[in-house]
Amino acid sequence: MILFKKATDLRHYLDAQEKAGLKTGFVPTMGALHAGHISLVTESKTRTGLTVCSIFVNPAQFNDPADFDKYPITLDKDIYLLEKARCDVLFLPSKEEIYPPEYKKETYELGYLETVLEGKYRPGHFQGVCMVVHRLLDMVKPSILYLGQKDYQQCMVISRLLSLTGLDTTIKLRISPTVRETDGLAMSSRNMRLNAAERERATALFKALNYIRENIAPGPVEKLKITAAAMLMEKGLQPDYVEVADADDLSLISNWDGSQKIVALVAAYNNEVRLIDNMLLNEPSL
Ligand code: AMP
Repeated sequence: MILFKKATDLRHYLDAQEKAGLKTGFVPTMGALHAGHISLVTESKTRTGLTVCSIFVNPAQFNDPADFDKYPITLDKDIYLLEKARCDVLFLPSKEEIYPPEYKKETYELGYLETVLEGKYRPGHFQGVCMVVHRLLDMVKPSILYLGQKDYQQCMVISRLLSLTGLDTTIKLRISPTVRETDGLAMSSRNMRLNAAERERATALFKALNYIRENIAPGPVEKLKITAAAMLMEKGLQPDYVEVADADDLSLISNWDGSQKIVALVAAYNNEVRLIDNMLLNEPSL
């Protein structure tokens, strides 16, 4: 694996590879890598000639400064895991590389997506996500961008970013399923911050989502949401939201017609650590 810190050096290398006919697959991350991230690298390795992973903890997307300060950094282990997954290139830009003094902040028209769920509870978060992803895409210019379903709403936001910027003509989006621990907990870099008791009760998110999936029936969904939220609170978690939404546009559902494609989404604090998860509800259980 080759490591680049400067976008110009990376571009130089990628230009030569692309001239030789290789297509680039790109996996942007904030590091503290786990099997979920690596599944995206593996997916890219099977589909594209050259896989680029980036690690950059993007200050612009943290609406809570304490969350940014405590974000785990495990660079040596990350490099080991990426080498093991045969990732071709690691891009490790500095803050100045992504946001140089001449960087002009853009505002992205995200509409409804920015007012609901993560958009509502983390003001400014998705603008920050768009800022960094737009910068990285301009630098890496991939053919395929690999994202995880774990961040369901983020996938929609980035899909919108691609169409807003016209990048959708050159970049295809591929979304990979959420990788889970054996007890169902969605893998997340933030799980590293959980102590043993918090780790144990973190599975409540998966259980609450499963409860909704197993009990959803045509008609009102309010009761299901209340019971699922109660399951979280019983475990000492504080939910920001437990919602059922249209899987294609995230409009919130109060009555399910039995055929609409829907997704359950949850965000909850486990003491200091905010966790999110989601589950498509029309699919049979894994
Ligand atoms: P992050 O480092 O949290 O910004 O995540 C980088 C990419 O990995 C995003 O596209 C995430 O959706 C994806 N990702 C994070 N956790 C998982 C997981 N458990 N399974 C699959 N993809 C994931």
